[in-house]
This record gives sequence, C-alpha cells and structure tokens, in this order.
Amino acid sequence: MKVVVVGSSHGGFEAVQELLQDYPQAEIQWYEKGDFLSFLSCGMQLYLEGVVKDVNSVSYATKEDMEKKGVHVFIQQDVTAINPTEHQVTVHNLADDTTRTEGYDKLIISTGAVPAQIPVAGNDLKNIYFMRGRDWAMKLKRATVEPLINKVVVIGSGYIGIEAAEAFAKAGKQVTIIDVLPRILGTYLDSEFTDVLAQELKQNNVDLALGENVKKFVGDNGKVQQVVTDKGTYAADLVIESVGVKPNTAWLADTLELNDDQTIKTDQYQRTSQPDIFAVGDATYVTFAPTGQPAKIALATNSRRQGRYAVKNLEKASQPTPAVSGSSALSVFRYHFASTGIKDATAKNYPVQSASVYVEDSYRPPFVPDTHNAKVQFKLTYNPENGQILGAQIMSTADVTANINTISLAIQQHLTVADLAYTDFFFQPGFDRPWNIMNVAAQKAQRQLQAK
Ligand SMILES: Cc1cc2nc3c(=O)[nH]c(=O)nc-3n(C[C@H](O)[C@H](O)[C@H](O)COP(=O)(O)OP(=O)(O)OC[C@H]3O[C@@H](n4cnc5c(N)ncnc54)[C@H](O)[C@@H]3O)c2cc1C
Repeated sequence: MKVVVVGSSHGGFEAVQELLQDYPQAEIQWYEKGDFLSFLSCGMQLYLEGVVKDVNSVSYATKEDMEKKGVHVFIQQDVTAINPTEHQVTVHNLADDTTRTEGYDKLIISTGAVPAQIPVAGNDLKNIYFMRGRDWAMKLKRATVEPLINKVVVIGSGYIGIEAAEAFAKAGKQVTIIDVLPRILGTYLDSEFTDVLAQELKQNNVDLALGENVKKFVGDNGKVQQVVTDKGTYAADLVIESVGVKPNTAWLADTLELNDDQTIKTDQYQRTSQPDIFAVGDATYVTFAPTGQPAKIALATNSRRQGRYAVKNLEKASQPTPAVSGSSALSVFRYHFASTGIKDATAKNYPVQSASVYVEDSYRPPFVPDTHNAKVQFKLTYNPENGQILGAQIMSTADVTANINTISLAIQQHLTVADLAYTDFFFQPGFDRPWNIMNVAAQKAQRQLQAK
C-alpha cells in the first residue's frame, strides 16, 4: 500500500508515526512545502524568550531520522492538486520548479491553517508580522533584539497574541495589545480570571487597548508606523497580527467538500467526501465532547489525535476519533492557567444549558505560610438539568493546571458533579488540601443543584 501524507506539522507527523507502527510494509511518502520538516509553533515563545536557543530544534522529526525509518520525505514540495478518480496528486517541486504526479492508495491531508489577516488598508506594509511557522519565528526573534524596534503592537489577545506580547515585553519592548473584544483571552477564561491577568500584563508594561476595532495601518517609506482603531492611534515599529487562522484549503475547493468556513468536511473516521482521502488537523473540525457537536478548535493535541485515528481507520472505518474538550494552558508572567470545555463567556455558543460555581482557596492548607502557598481560582461549569460536567478553569501562581486534565476526562466520560464531589484525590500538604479544589467546587455545585 502506498500512503501519501501532506503536511509535516502535528497532524502529518502523527499520521506518519501511526503508519510506521500499523503498516510497516507500506510505502510512505511525506510532503512538506516549507523548507523545514515538522516545525512546532507551540515552541515559538520558548525560542523567542531564549529558553530554546536553536530554532531548528523546535521539531519532533528530521528528514534524516525519518528516512532511516523508511519514510520517503519530500521537503519544498507543494502538493497542488488531487485527482481522486485516478488516485493521483500533483506535486510542485519548489526547489527546481518542476511538476510531477504521484499515485496513492490512501491520502492523508494535514495542511493546517495560515494566520488570518485583517482586511484593512495598509496591511501590506513592512513590519507587520505573524506568529506561526519557522520563518516567522526567525523574523520575530530578530525583532526581539533589534534596537530600532521599540513599540510593538500585538493585535488579538488569544493565547498566541498573549505569548507574543509576553515575549516582546520580556525583551524590553513597549507592548500594546489591541483586541476588539472587551477582555483578553475571552474564549479561554471568564472575567474572574482575565481581570487578574489584565492587571498582571499592565504591571509588566503591557498596555491593553480592548474593545477597539482596527481600522487601518499607516506607514512611512513602506514600513508600518501606526495602528489606527475606532478609538485611538497607536505608534508601532512592529505589528504582530494574531487574529485567528484560516484553513489552508483553497487548493482543495474543487476536489473535496468544504464547510462554510473553508475547513474540510470529514466524518468521525477522518474520511473526506472522496474515497481513500482523509483529512486531519486545523483544516478540519473536531467533535466537542461537552455538546457532541462538530467544532473548530485549532490545537496541536487535536491534530495529533486525528492523525493517529485517520490511520486507524485507513482500511476499515471502525474507530471513531474520540471527542475532545478543547483543553489548553498558558503562563502569563507569574500566573499559570488552564481551561477546558464550556465557560460562562462561551456558553451562549452552544445548545446546552449551563451553570457555574466559582471557588477561591489556597492550594496548600492555611497553616502553610504565604511564602510556600498561593491562591487558587477555580470555576466549574455544569449542566443544571442533569449535573453533567461541561467545563472548568483554573489559575494560580502555583502550577495547578494539571487539574484541568481531570476535568477534561470527566467531560469526555460524561461524569456529573455528583461523581466529582467525593472522588478520591490524594492529599499531602506539600501539594494540596484535604479536599481537592475540584471536590470543593463540585460539592458547591451539588448544593446549588439541590437548592433549585
Ligand atoms: C504560536 C503558536 C503556539 C501554539 N501553541 C500550542 C500549544 O501550546 N498547544 C496546542 O495544542 N496547540 C498550539 N498551537 C496550535 C498548533 O500549532 C496547531 O493546532 C497545529 O500546528 C495544527 O497542526 P496541523 O498539522 O493541522 O497543521 P499546521 O501546523 O498548520 O501545518 C501544516 C503544514 O502543512 C504544510 N502544507 C500546507 N499545505 C501544503 C501543501 N499543499 N503541500 C505540502 N505541504 C503543505 C505547511 O507548510 C505546514 O508545515 C499553537 C499555534 C501557534 C501558532
């Protein structure tokens, strides 16, 4: 069997790993149009902040290692078209500008997404950067040490914008974050958490311009100088746009069925509308566990899971890709947070009733002095009709983020607040309190439910 995998990031990488295990005899051809295999944008902040020194180490695979495993790796080779009837792809070799066709028995597409661009005047000016992929990583890194770059405007306050802002603030730049929404990280956290993080950013010289809509970029000599919003004008030596992503699927429009937002339609086995063609990653939807409905959640974790499941279902559609809760975590200067599932702020987007309880506690017992203790904020969201757990958020200066993985499991297993209220979690004063904060919140939710 000959399997062609297109795209070498998270989804493509996992598809190849699973193929090597499940189909050791298969001929695997792995295509990447960039000049580098398997760059992980997730590692970008660590590189920008100098924790990781070598940009080329931000990867899980090298061409040489993969070829030793028997994978045929093609870098700088853009797969530009598919002929599903003939089971062929067209490949444009960007290095020597030649084009050829390759046959396949099975085709797995993980061509991901590219950063969205704000459609306003001046968006073609120089010094407007994006935060995705190795090329931008290297340009951004140079900007962190460029003395002529002082004022950095980050547009978008999702986790990528916040990572960019923190990296440039730590590099000594004067950073302003602009977002059309009134709160930072609005789809990840509710206001109990974002109010604290907004203060934390301001204390670290990151200015916030929230509830403002970017109207245009103004430049001089072709370089960006100002970002103009409906409420103000911000001087900028560098702009970093992080306003979401758009799927890399224009080349598939005539071949595969796409959703309205141009993501590729797949079923739960990662099969597309054409036989023997599978799609995974940011260019597709996942099943959102709290609702059981398809959702667009662009995360490496999701792409990786889908890459594995595409291969598990390559010959027989028998193992549906598990639903996901959309869990993610981030540090913002001193704070570490994680969240999963539905929050109050996002609840209106889903066809399910929700209610929440909010708890603050210290993460170790009160007798442990402040020097070795810290406040924890936790919020649990559940369905008031049946008590089913739908989501949670946690934040502290201590790293207590792993609790969110427990909640993710609870969501996926359709557990209720009654299940969680007295679940056995360990206690040791060096780590936590006799009642884990998840128990405390679930007990509060139980009382709230009983009071109804
Ligand atoms: C700054 C940043 C930080 C992130 N941090 C996290 C994190 O901490 N945790 C997390 O879970 N997620 C994180 N993500 C999200 C994660 O990176 C994406 O969800 C993930 O990369 C999606 O993988 P993918 O395989 O769908 O495609 P992509 O990563 O988009 O990669 C697609 C690849 O396919 C190649 N390609 C595209 N078209 C073709 C073609 N026609 N022919 C050949 N090659 C092609 C592209 O060059 C690219 O290399 C982060 C993203 C960014 C930008």
